[in-house]
Amino acid sequence: MSLPSHAQYVVIGGGIIGCSTAYHLARDHKADVVLLEQGRLTSGSTWHAAGLVGQLRSSASITRVLKYSVELYKGLEAETGLATGWKMTGCLRLATNQDRWTEFRRLATTARSFGMDMHLISPAEVKRMWPLMDVSDLVGASWLPTDGQASPSDITQSLAKGARMHGAKLHEGVRVTGFGMDGDRIVTVRTSEGDIACEKVINCAGQWARQVGAMAGIEVPLQPVKHQYVITERIEGLATDAPTIRDPDRRTYFKEEVGGLVMGGYEPNPQAWETGLAGGDVPDDWEFRLFDDDYDHFEQHMTQAIARVPALETAGIKQMVNGPESFTPDGNFILGRANECANMFVGAGFNAFGIASGGGAGWVLAQWAVDGEAPLDLWVVDIRRFSGLHRDRAWVRDRTLEAYGKHYTVGYPNEEYESGRPRIVSPLYERLKGHRAVFGSKLGWERPNWFAPAGADARDVPSMGRQNWFGPVGEEHAQVREKVGIFDQSSFAKYEMTGRDALKALDFICANDVTRPAGHLTYTQLLNTRGGIEADLTVARLAEDRFYIVTGTGFRTHDFGWIDDHIPDGLDARLTDVTEEYGTLSLMGPRARDVLSAVTDADVSNDAFPFGRVREIGIAGHAVRALRITYVGELGWELHVPISATGDVFDALMEAGGSHDIRPVGYRALESLRLEKGYRAWGSDITPNDTPFEAGLGWAVKLRRNTDFMGRASLQGAASRPLTKRLMGFTVDDAEVMLLGRETILRNGESVGYLTSGGYGYTLGRGIGYGYVRNASGVDDDFLASGDYELVVATERVPARLHTKPLFDPEGRKVKA
Ligand SMILES: Cc1cc2nc3c(=O)[nH]c(=O)nc-3n(C[C@H](O)[C@H](O)[C@H](O)COP(=O)(O)OP(=O)(O)OC[C@H]3O[C@@H](n4cnc5c(N)ncnc54)[C@H](O)[C@@H]3O)c2cc1C
Repeated sequence: MSLPSHAQYVVIGGGIIGCSTAYHLARDHKADVVLLEQGRLTSGSTWHAAGLVGQLRSSASITRVLKYSVELYKGLEAETGLATGWKMTGCLRLATNQDRWTEFRRLATTARSFGMDMHLISPAEVKRMWPLMDVSDLVGASWLPTDGQASPSDITQSLAKGARMHGAKLHEGVRVTGFGMDGDRIVTVRTSEGDIACEKVINCAGQWARQVGAMAGIEVPLQPVKHQYVITERIEGLATDAPTIRDPDRRTYFKEEVGGLVMGGYEPNPQAWETGLAGGDVPDDWEFRLFDDDYDHFEQHMTQAIARVPALETAGIKQMVNGPESFTPDGNFILGRANECANMFVGAGFNAFGIASGGGAGWVLAQWAVDGEAPLDLWVVDIRRFSGLHRDRAWVRDRTLEAYGKHYTVGYPNEEYESGRPRIVSPLYERLKGHRAVFGSKLGWERPNWFAPAGADARDVPSMGRQNWFGPVGEEHAQVREKVGIFDQSSFAKYEMTGRDALKALDFICANDVTRPAGHLTYTQLLNTRGGIEADLTVARLAEDRFYIVTGTGFRTHDFGWIDDHIPDGLDARLTDVTEEYGTLSLMGPRARDVLSAVTDADVSNDAFPFGRVREIGIAGHAVRALRITYVGELGWELHVPISATGDVFDALMEAGGSHDIRPVGYRALESLRLEKGYRAWGSDITPNDTPFEAGLGWAVKLRRNTDFMGRASLQGAASRPLTKRLMGFTVDDAEVMLLGRETILRNGESVGYLTSGGYGYTLGRGIGYGYVRNASGVDDDFLASGDYELVVATERVPARLHTKPLFDPEGRKVKA
């Protein structure tokens, strides 16, 4: 079959992800698709995968993607005639200590919240289900009956056949060697067999995806890591339908295969595949290849596995598989379009769950490429969660190895990564260290999470219950509620939009009205075509044609890309990232005005400087952009300071605030303060799956103005229909109950949703959560008021109160930073 000279979509890579994407493009969108594979189909990582298929993740959307995979694998043979080897064996996860057991209890509740039945079972039940196992050290196990296993090569061949049946053209032995570009747009795909003109490219090149992306100017931050498992000879007494096993405390996994076992693991000392090629590239000629067996490195897994399944001691090893797989710095895969190239979509970095993800990832990636926007909330896997930092190969390698090493460690709440730190620091870093700051890291920035009192251990001590910072953070919280505190929020992402048509552009992109005169701030959501919330930020109008936009640290690349992409063609509007030009000090608390007026000549009275305004004021000889706004619900200002002056302004505020006991305050207190005030957090409470109406943010949508804006059409339709879900606040009376998010919401004993965030409100003295209450026939005020509510917290039912208003908001302010 000769190569066509043109295709609408060119998919690069014939592994499970490429084949699934081509299949969905052809089946669901009747698209004109060409798939190019440099070797033969499956010859990259796919052919040597172990084939365990798990479904539960901490994100509801990703769990949905994985559940879709299972549904697809179940039915694919009927469509294509090629079996996938799918077996619904169920999966047992083993717990050998109390912390792990607590993790599983939380996991079982998460599973229920996401509509899956995960059971917790006793060691005796485990023994009955898996008689060859030594259960003497078990506390118990979780049991997810709908998980299973499949044959990676067979699924891929079946998807490839299905893709062809729907009209896709798959070419093996064709290597992509480069791209012909027109600015940031790919116009031709250059291959070993000639050029193909195309509209969109989908980069599913597995561990080669980084170098394929680089040819189009984008960074795909992944690191190939060596991953090993063994396949044993037959083991007497092993059932062919034995559940797959994950034994995280022993860092190993098992699945039955032809009467024997596949056993592999995640070691704490993983080995990156460093090829020695320029830029760390992976060699092209790695078709159906493996590394040499490394029994020395694997011995740690073997020892643990024999302790769990003693029959392994005498079972013969049929084969060892030591293959490369792409891992990422946060353990999640990578989908979507990077800002640097207008028409390359990526599906790569599958962290050894590419077989489990393949079906669903292909579905959402195809839809994303066709529509230009993700079909559901895929933020945790979006390529725009990364930044310029991720161009640093050594940093990506170190962080990825840390994430790999933590794959099976107990997931303690609020855990931070340790590698590659400190990386980006604010000018206040040393000063804050002097105040005994305990830092966390976000997109490379060191940010104070809390401040350890003198004599206390200035570090996070992991724990499943209340952690060592609980008391000190309560004091910081009280300081802001009662007096005044300073948050260093210099890591906030900041952009400027300028140009004759800047207002026109933002008026189209923002759901709220940004046309207020210069000097005004607008808190606004940015909506997708479904009316879902793609971003949540503040726009300050500095002049007729100049706007300053502030958003969360982690959303820097994403929000920039979203705004830039949606500037209507032909308008004179330019977006610039100015993050590093400004330090940000948030001066918050009832005494904030006393402190601010002591350091500036400007009139900061309520009349002269009301809420929702931006002014330039002088502090310590520097021009400071002051935004009267709050995310904690107290009187306060965000002070955006020329970066080199951040220290001077901080010192001046600290000195002036001395008589008010001013002190620096960290991000954990911020979280507690915002939960009490009901300010939404993007990525958890509000996501692309949720409209402003559902999120209780309808007041920030300019439907009444006769102007077109992103999402308007869809919201207008929604405005006349009953809401089927609404974001509500919940509290629990028992102050000891810990809420973390994903707890199930019960109304009159029936599940109606789950918490999107959870934490502790120190002023209220109890746990607080937010979550959507759902009901297919509508969630109106009567429905909300007429229910009795409980939360399921780590499998225990706990009485809860529903709140329709912010929990602590005496002034009813609605604007956030
Ligand atoms: C030992 C091991 C065990 C695993 N076990 C499991 C498991 O139990 N469950 C699970 O879900 N996952 C598992 N995985 C992970 C799984 O194998 C991968 O996540 C998955 O195969 C990734 O598929 P892919 O399509 O992204 O990559 P690949 O299969 O590597 O496909 C990428 C393809 O792109 C082609 N390509 C690259 N560059 C070019 C170019 N320039 N031009 C044309 N073609 C190109 C390559 O030749 C390759 O075929 C395991 C991985 C390993 C290593």
